[in-house]
Amino acid sequence: MPKFALQLQAQFTNVTSLLPGDGDYTLMVKTKCTSCHEVHPKLIGITPSDEKELQKGRDTANLVMKCNFCKKEASAKFDEPTSKAPLYRPIEANEDSGAEFQTLCVLEFRGLEPVEFVPQGTWTCKGLSSGTVFDAVEFDDGKEWMDYDEKAGDEVSIMELESRWQRA
Ligand SMILES: [Zn+2]
Repeated sequence: MPKFALQLQAQFTNVTSLLPGDGDYTLMVKTKCTSCHEVHPKLIGITPSDEKELQKGRDTANLVMKCNFCKKEASAKFDEPTSKAPLYRPIEANEDSGAEFQTLCVLEFRGLEPVEFVPQGTWTCKGLSSGTVFDAVEFDDGKEWMDYDEKAGDEVSIMELESRWQRA
């Protein structure tokens, strides 16, 4: 079954380790039906703790839906987390080579394909040298966040946030 990795990249200034604020963070995605190729008109939320039963078989998934157009059943499921690869993996600053796509999470999609990700909600990151925890990071326009690190006496920011879905 096709797996897709959600990858993020950004320009980090004095911060690193970008992660969703909640371990049960709901991914807001745009999806496309793999049967009729219609893009679903609304953003769809996929939540790790959601367990939905598939119509056929005994499998469960984190998202089960029907295409509005061709009525085919589609589902999405997060990869089982392991100690080496937790469900959400931090996106680290890369000072040497600048912005670089890193995997945030991996999901298996059946009957649909992800085409877009919208970074809604609250995220966290850490001061690069100070270790200050910023736990109210929000990307208002989907791309930028700025704050001030009192401990380090420095401005901190995450700019040019971009995402992509890669076949995994
Ligand atoms: Zn369809």
